[in-house]
Amino acid sequence: MYDELRKRGASRDGMPLLEPGHVWLAGAGPGDPGLLTLDALAGLAQADVIVHDALVDSRVLALAGAQARLEFAGKRGGKPSAQQADISQRLVALARAGERVLRLKGGDPCVFGRGAEEAMALATAGVPFRIIPGVTAGIAALTAAAIPLTVRGINRAVVLAAGYGADDAGGPNWTQLARTGAPLVLYMAMHHLAATPAAVIVSATLPGERIVVSTLGEIAEDARRHGLEPPAIVVIGDVVTVRERLRQAIGAEPSP
Ligand code: SAH
Repeated sequence: MYDELRKRGASRDGMPLLEPGHVWLAGAGPGDPGLLTLDALAGLAQADVIVHDALVDSRVLALAGAQARLEFAGKRGGKPSAQQADISQRLVALARAGERVLRLKGGDPCVFGRGAEEAMALATAGVPFRIIPGVTAGIAALTAAAIPLTVRGINRAVVLAAGYGADDAGGPNWTQLARTGAPLVLYMAMHHLAATPAAVIVSATLPGERIVVSTLGEIAEDARRHGLEPPAIVVIGDVVTVRERLRQAIGAEPSP
């Protein structure tokens, strides 16, 4: 089946040519090869070398032409950004050596994928390149899970945010994002999720008031463990961490 796909990808009418010394900066979609674009497939079929990320599924890489060499250039979140310069330099070097280069990234290359940085590096080096969009995970994951990104009458905006990144300086402004009322679609949020401050406030201002401060990763479990029951307010965001300092300033007892 892959042979057939590859053949079609490589032979369709009007297929763009990946020329020697050129780089295609392409998105591979969220994983399933069915969500590749035909242009990405054409790149796979023509490339001499495919520089790919960890997120690119092996079934996608299996669509590479027989001549293609695979180079892994994955970065795991939080690693030093020096690696990014290495990847860009590698792309430049391969292109200058006359290779047909496919730089394949998960999802869309320009959605939390640092595609812009690589494109700038190629442009600065005078390497001819093209950017090929991909189906971004933040959209594909929802639609594939039957969670519509927009529903008439519910929302007319969506926020795509990164919970964590190499250049992370404290993550998104949750308070501000939450205020939009738009659904938040979070990339790279798993680690950050666990560490994002959150609190449940039960029966606020009433004699039975209870406050549990935790993290988004643990708040549900903590609420259950403490036997919290509605009515409750849940607050998520860095403002939660200010509480201890403020309470000290007020002269309150440290909270349990
Ligand atoms: N450029 C990519 C995103 C790279 S950031 C895109 O447009 O999709 C990496 C993050 O993307 C992961 O931490 C995860 O949050 C998300 N991601 C990528 N592929 C995914 C998949 N198949 N399922 C769920 N999340 C995915």
